[in-house]
Amino acid sequence: MNTERVESLVRELLLEIGEDPNREGLQKTPLRVAEAMNFLTNGYRSDATTVINGAIFESEANNMIIVRDMEVYSLCEHHMLPFFGKCHVGYIATSRVLGVSKIARIVDLYARRLQIQERLTSQVARNVMDSVGAEGVGVVMECKHLCMMMRGVEKQHSFMTTSSVLGSFHADEATRLEFLNLIGRDQL
Ligand code: ZN
Repeated sequence: MNTERVESLVRELLLEIGEDPNREGLQKTPLRVAEAMNFLTNGYRSDATTVINGAIFESEANNMIIVRDMEVYSLCEHHMLPFFGKCHVGYIATSRVLGVSKIARIVDLYARRLQIQERLTSQVARNVMDSVGAEGVGVVMECKHLCMMMRGVEKQHSFMTTSSVLGSFHADEATRLEFLNLIGRDQL
């Protein structure tokens, strides 16, 4: 990302909304916005191999592994406004498992892009599935969207829930119910 170019675009934006980019409080704003955008979209400039960084381990057991209540912060692709909430991921390993922090890193890899929540959910599920050759994966995401809360319909308290279930989580109802039970939900 070209920081100087983004800075000049933010200056233009400030002018268009009727601001004075030279007033004291705004002088460093273009730089700060550029740095924030660089961080919030760094998923475009990374990939799963880099993020996982070899943290895949052999495992004999094939019980369900759950990481619940991970914070997720992303930007909606329609308005470039934040949506944020919780993400729960479960999978059943066949012979390999991911290092414990790597699920959260996979979530961030896809969250730090312009997204819709549905695609973010399915990209996380697909990536966990493919990274370890899981028997099945389930991802549930519950988010609030600032584009709904601050503008448009101005619904302050609505959560959007999305889910993606692959492999045995899709095919086997008992597995899916066990996953939902472990993340504290009784249905999708
Ligand atoms: Zn939006």
